[in-house]
This record gives sequence, C-alpha cells and structure tokens, in this order.
Amino acid sequence: MEQIDRGTRADLHTHTTASDGTCTPTENVRLAREAGLACLAITDHDTVAGIPEAVACGKQWGIEVVPGVELSTLAGGQDIHVLGYFIPYQDAAFQAELAKLRDVRNKRNEMLIARLQELGIQITLEDVYKQKEGPDANIGRPHIAAEMMRRGYVASIEEAFAKYLGKLGAAYVTPPRISPQQAIDLIKQAGGVAVLAHPGLYDDDELVEELIRYGLDGIEVWHPDNAPAAAERYLRWAEEYGLLATGGSDFHGWRGKEPFHAMLGSSTAAHTVVAQLKALAARRRNGETG
Ligand code: AMP
Ligand code: ZN
Ligand code: FE
Ligand code: FE
Repeated sequence: MEQIDRGTRADLHTHTTASDGTCTPTENVRLAREAGLACLAITDHDTVAGIPEAVACGKQWGIEVVPGVELSTLAGGQDIHVLGYFIPYQDAAFQAELAKLRDVRNKRNEMLIARLQELGIQITLEDVYKQKEGPDANIGRPHIAAEMMRRGYVASIEEAFAKYLGKLGAAYVTPPRISPQQAIDLIKQAGGVAVLAHPGLYDDDELVEELIRYGLDGIEVWHPDNAPAAAERYLRWAEEYGLLATGGSDFHGWRGKEPFHAMLGSSTAAHTVVAQLKALAARRRNGETG
C-alpha cells in the first residue's frame, strides 16, 4: 500500500455541530491532530459559527485551521455546493449574507417537513430542533433524517435519504436559492477563494465546465463521492484550466457507529495547496486580482 505522510496533508472539507456535523470544532481539530494532518478546514453549511473555536484550538495544538464555508446553491433543479476558503469570518457584512442563506434553509426545512407530513411521516420541525446541538440552530437534512430514524420511520439515515430526502427522494424540495455563480461572486467579493465542492455528485459536467469558465478558483478533486475516474478527470481539468485542486473528507462526525460520510483525514489535499489558497485570498484582498 502507498504510504502517505499525513504531516504534509490537509483535510479541506469538514463539518461541525455549527451545522450538521456531530463533533464540536474542538473535536475536529483533535481528530486532525490524531490523524497526523498538518491542516484542516472548517466548512460548515452556510455558517462560520464553528470557526473561532477551531482556530483557537489549532493555535494551541499546532494544526493550521483554514476558515471556510460551504454555500448551498441551486442549479438545474439540484443542490450545488460551493466552498469558500479564507473568507472574512469575522466580518459583519459577510455574516449577514450567510444569515440570508440560512433563512432560505429554514424555509426549505419547513417545505420538507410539510411534504413528509403529506407522505404520512408525522415529525415536526420543533422536535428536530430539540435534537440540535452546537452554537446555532442551523438545521440540515441529516438532522431531519435522524429524527425520522428516532421515530422509527426509517431504519437508517441512508434509508431516509434514499427514500425521502435525497435528490431522488419522495420529499426532496428545493426553494429558490442563489445560483452557484452568485455564490462564487459572494465569496470572491469578500476576498475569499471559491471552490466547487464534490463535482462528482452532480452528474452534470456541463455545469461544472460552465462554472469553471464563470470564475471558479478551484475544484474539489479528492472527495469520497468523486469516483476515481471522476477525480482523474477533474484533476486534468484543474491542470488545463489553471485551477487549484483541493480535497477533503466531508467529515460529519458519527451518526450511529459509523462516521457519517467519511472519516476525517480519509480524503486530503497536499498542504502546499493551502499556501496557494491563502496567497490567492491575500492578492484578492489587496485588489491585485479579481
Ligand atoms: P442540506 O444542507 O440540509 O441540504 O443537507 C445536505 C447534507 O445532507 C449533506 O452535506 C450531507 O451531509 C447530507 N446528504 C445529502 N445527500 C445525501 C445522501 N444521498 N445520503 C446521505 N447524506 C446525504
Ligand atoms: Zn452536511
Ligand atoms: Fe456538500
Ligand atoms: Fe460538506
């Protein structure tokens, strides 16, 4: 087996209790240290609430923590996720933009629960909120799936997504959302770096190429949901189009005995990419590049 020196690796995609992860920011940093990583990014859905705690732990334990976010957008009738790195997480105007995205998320959650109730699944948003831990009430589909499981409507989170919540599920709903292009603009105008998350999940490479031409800075090549052939193709595109190639596990903690999605550190990028992300963000903030 190929040996990877994790001390040179960065996991650039992880979730915490600030969104739908089950580990606190501190726990994510601890897991990164245990995995021997040099660096990890916190990329919660539509919030930066987990970043300050992770940054403080990272300083204490000698792990570089990259401030990030994963924005929820809509294109071609499906959820498209855009990662932002080195975003100004302490900036009030940027935080206000994220609050708007969380309002849409709340609206989506209401639509989803209404649809589930029509299908005979008698769960309420109030009960889902009661299960939420962490710094803010930022609910996602995994919380709804967990409540469905708790109430015995499904045997597993996977079943909840396959039958109801996933993009082919009976209760899948998408409210009007910002487009991926608007998310790219939002991140870049804030001085961050815009990267397309898990392109292999969308089954829409035309859209991927369109977004590359529109102005993505990078593409997530290494991700548990990118099949090996897809990762090779996206790495080639990154080289052809001059994009940064990133990677991360999309760790969401544990639901049941298994890590939900994949274990922290199981997909990574070279730590050298982090310096490139950082340099690009610095040039952007100095007005040296668009
Ligand atoms: P949301 O942000 O509320 O739309 O939920 C998105 C999250 O749901 C993703 O980050 C995953 O954690 C989870 N998710 C989406 N699709 C699936 C799926 N098919 N199976 C398991 N989890 C999924
Ligand atoms: Zn998630
Ligand atoms: Fe995602
Ligand atoms: Fe994610």
